[in-house]
Amino acid sequence: MIMTQPSPAHTRFAPSPTGEIHLGHAFSACFAARAGGGQFTLRIDDIDHTRCKPAFTEQIFDDLAWLGLQWREPVRYQSDRFDVYQEALETLTNMELVYPCFLSRAEVNALLSAPQDADTVKDSMRDALPNDERRQRENSGMVPAWRLHTSAALEKVGQLSWHDLASGEDVPIDMTDFGDVVIARKDIGTSYHLSVVIDDAMDDITLVTRAEDLKASTNLHRLLQELLGLSTPDYLHHRLLTDSKGRRLAKRDKSTSIATLRRDGHSADAILRMMPKINISQRPF
Ligand code: GLU
Repeated sequence: MIMTQPSPAHTRFAPSPTGEIHLGHAFSACFAARAGGGQFTLRIDDIDHTRCKPAFTEQIFDDLAWLGLQWREPVRYQSDRFDVYQEALETLTNMELVYPCFLSRAEVNALLSAPQDADTVKDSMRDALPNDERRQRENSGMVPAWRLHTSAALEKVGQLSWHDLASGEDVPIDMTDFGDVVIARKDIGTSYHLSVVIDDAMDDITLVTRAEDLKASTNLHRLLQELLGLSTPDYLHHRLLTDSKGRRLAKRDKSTSIATLRRDGHSADAILRMMPKINISQRPF
């Protein structure tokens, strides 16, 4: 009898070039490699042109290669895909599941912090401006953010779940904390959430590995996948690395950046030993 080996999951590592990657990012990359049978798709999440810099992208390549990590070629860039994100936004507009939001940041913050109706306000962004004020802002050429009409979207798709490879369970989606989330920012015309589901489908990702601070976002991602008819990967969230005081690592703290550690004379092996052991109990392959 011929035994065929199950093929490894197709994972990705998707850093944003907004600074030097730190130990937490390196851990995420190692995790993606491990879960992907030794390699991953490398995607540069560079939609935010206000903060991303090509020099950081170069540094990411250099740091990952120096750590001995391997990725599939070609490297993917979100900035190559703005037209695809725009098309997806149009699809959702045609389905009447998104609406333009002309509120300023200060107005949104005021709404969200209004104590009397904090629970309901997240849903009421659509009606927050009187019609004539809204029209006036629109006519003056103000660029809106686009918000998902979450309750309508949920009604359309019915009950959904995503597959959590850590527990082996299908987790029903829970959108309570989201409200009418922005899925296209006014400054960049898309958002992390909209772009990531499109990218994962375009890149044939079968298993998304990422830190557990993004676990809540998986609910929204599953909803967007369903609305847009995109494929749904499995999910495996790993622990978030923290500093000695229990605080999550930040790009602005240079002491844990891989580039700094390299400059200080640490070897790649020494850096890999600083990370927790990767324990993928539910082996995806
Ligand atoms: N660019 C995102 C980040 O660095 C990727 C998140 C994800 O893996 O979905 O947080």
